[in-house]
Amino acid sequence: MRYQGPIYRPPSEADSLLVQATVGCPHNKCSFCMTYKKGPPFRVRPVSEIVEDLTEARRELGPGVRTLFFPAGDSLAMPTGELAAICAEAGELFPRLERITVYAGVKSILKHGPEGLQRLRAAGLMRLHVGLESGHDPTLLRVKKGVTSAQQVEAGCMALEAGLELSLYVMLGLAGPEDSLAHAQATARVVNAVNQAGAPTLRLRTLLPKINTLLLHQIKKGRFTMCTPQQTLDEAGAIIAALSGPLSLHSDHYTNHLNLAGHLPQDRERLLGQIEAAMSLPRSAFRADFVGTQ
Ligand code: SF4
Repeated sequence: MRYQGPIYRPPSEADSLLVQATVGCPHNKCSFCMTYKKGPPFRVRPVSEIVEDLTEARRELGPGVRTLFFPAGDSLAMPTGELAAICAEAGELFPRLERITVYAGVKSILKHGPEGLQRLRAAGLMRLHVGLESGHDPTLLRVKKGVTSAQQVEAGCMALEAGLELSLYVMLGLAGPEDSLAHAQATARVVNAVNQAGAPTLRLRTLLPKINTLLLHQIKKGRFTMCTPQQTLDEAGAIIAALSGPLSLHSDHYTNHLNLAGHLPQDRERLLGQIEAAMSLPRSAFRADFVGTQ
């Protein structure tokens, strides 16, 4: 199996076969992200190479693979026909395959359009992991996410209407203390609008400054202030209070200060109670601040 550049996968794909479909990230500009900053630059691997790797995996693992993830940062950026071809090939090689998953940028979803997404779903693609980070336009602009909240809503609805499952990632603390409430409210508005088209899964992350990022530089220069653990929990509470659902919520990441998991709206009071109880804990009850290196 051949891999080039950083290979990341969502925690929920821990047991999946990883076959690299693209290298790097086509955007690669987010101020908080170090993942692909040192290259290699984005490229789509040739279908023939990806099929060779799938075939090698079939030889080594047999036909029983049930879940498959195609790294890297936005493999939905592949042309529709090429991504559909490798999904279909994977289905042939692994007849018990239950799920094919990719990281997906909002602009990549929009580029495929409804028909392209339906074609991909028919070829076997099942789930998209999308980093919303925030639905607050000034924050999206500041962190150089390269999309607007309106595009997030359009893309999210389009994906769900095409029959794809959608995991949406939200980053607590990304707007800093001053814009925390606006970030929470605008993010909940985006998720609620997407929720009109189907039930996404919401996955919370908490901002952790990373080495070699613009955001870390801004913190060092005093241009951005990190939220305290209590402020990020308050923000999580404001998001949870404003979500209409139905959706499932996960906090499956080491950056979070509290493991908030459940279904909305039915678990809202329990989750808000969990947050309220944690708010009175001392600073030492939460993970220390540190600079991430990976
Ligand atoms: S956060 Fe995602 S879209 Fe932004 S640079 Fe990192 S991998 Fe690319």
